[in-house]
Amino acid sequence: MKEILYESTRGGARNVTASQAILQGLAPDGGLFVPMTMPHLDDGFFAQMSGKPYQEIAFAVSRLFLSDYSDEELWDCVNNAYDSKFDTEEIVPVAKVGEKTYFLELFHGATIAFKDMALSILPHFLTRAARKNNVNEDVVILTATSGDTGKAAMAGFADVPGTRIIVFYPKGGVSIVQERQMITQTGDNTAVVAIHGNFDNAQTGVKKMFEDRALKDRLKASGFVFSSANSINVGRLVPQVAYYVYGYSKLVADGVIKNGDPIDIVVPTGNFGNILAAHYAKLIGTPVDKLVCASNKNKVLYDFFNTGVYDKNREFYLTSSPSMDILISSNLERLIFEVADRDAAKTAELMKQLVTGGQYEITDKMRENLSDFETGFATEEQMSSVIAQTFNDEHYLMDTHTGVAAYVSREYEKRQDPVKPILLASTASPFKFAKSVMGAIDPVYREVDDFELLDRMVALTGHPRPAAMKDIENAPILHDRECNVEEMEATVCSILGLK
Ligand SMILES: *Cc1c(COP(=O)(O)O)cnc(C)c1O
Repeated sequence: MKEILYESTRGGARNVTASQAILQGLAPDGGLFVPMTMPHLDDGFFAQMSGKPYQEIAFAVSRLFLSDYSDEELWDCVNNAYDSKFDTEEIVPVAKVGEKTYFLELFHGATIAFKDMALSILPHFLTRAARKNNVNEDVVILTATSGDTGKAAMAGFADVPGTRIIVFYPKGGVSIVQERQMITQTGDNTAVVAIHGNFDNAQTGVKKMFEDRALKDRLKASGFVFSSANSINVGRLVPQVAYYVYGYSKLVADGVIKNGDPIDIVVPTGNFGNILAAHYAKLIGTPVDKLVCASNKNKVLYDFFNTGVYDKNREFYLTSSPSMDILISSNLERLIFEVADRDAAKTAELMKQLVTGGQYEITDKMRENLSDFETGFATEEQMSSVIAQTFNDEHYLMDTHTGVAAYVSREYEKRQDPVKPILLASTASPFKFAKSVMGAIDPVYREVDDFELLDRMVALTGHPRPAAMKDIENAPILHDRECNVEEMEATVCSILGLK
């Protein structure tokens, strides 16, 4: 096996092992860790892997990128992650919708959205990374959440030995369903705190604790060390590469394509992590032609791909695909580094411009290197119409984020001749965004209460309620902590029982 080492996109760290990159999350210079050389799937990989279960492919892909983990460690991680937490043995089913489009259903995990794919395995990567690097303390994950990520992270870390997780959310700033999902979370190592403030206060408070040296020393004295489950962690990127490799192998196994035939991939995009993983899948040897980046009304990426200018100085819209309501797509930095021919100084300079002036422009040469990418966006009306139409025509119900991708995919397809099979990342269960999804089919549903709507959805689709949505009305409430913004640190100390 070739050893893969990591470097920072801003030049401040090189020759970092995979387990170190996972422990550190962000590089010390504020850059993102990227592989110094891209690994490659063996010749004949897809011929060998055709028809193999999800776990085999997740293992094979992890092994390429995380070369300082032993096979035994990686199998432990994979088997602990992709198990009965998922509501289907397939883990990632592929559904044919329409003539040539295949939905890669990434929402069968604990919180019925695609972040479960990475957050169910990250805790296991982290605990083994700690052991390998002689970190004997328990790893404490601190997260601020605007609703979804906190729950997905807790579900991943719950009862994982050697870890603790503490989630802060803004009281009154998340939906009723989201709050209920968090405060009913089981697991002795989980804690949830509602803060009297907004999401920014929560995030700033968490960041301050990460940077507080005195607190770090106090933690260490009590046997704890902080880490982050942030979406820029290499340990979240690698598991996402695996499902695109799996999707391709599944299309081969099902006879949709012959081994070696190219496909296109369409991804509903926010922070650019998911589509970057699709790009990495291509770089390691999956036969992919175009990567189509789908945005909602916050179309900062659409404009970037069309003009070469990234400009976050614009109006921010709240849409019904909230996980894509993002104006700074952090993971784009990895692509910028690559299209700058791995020029760290150039990347650092552009990222500095983004902080100081809110925008940057890439060179013509860099734009030429973006030729793998296509782009599109969907308005609320366009997204809703595609959800309704697909349900009426094919009885397939998709969520709002997936709806954005489906609209963009349809428009993209019109420009293609011939049309290749399209793998479309389906990032959430429609049950998670019931109000908008049902409202798209018939506006009368907009008046129905959130919990009752789930029952209506079961009746309409014939699908049972996903486990994540079962009994949330009645599940016991296990967390009732609240605090003011200034008390966040004291709350963490009290939860951990620090002296
Ligand atoms: C996070 C999320 C996205 C966006 O993914 P990125 O990796 O941030 O681009 C899309 N859909 C859903 C449902 C999400 O939770």
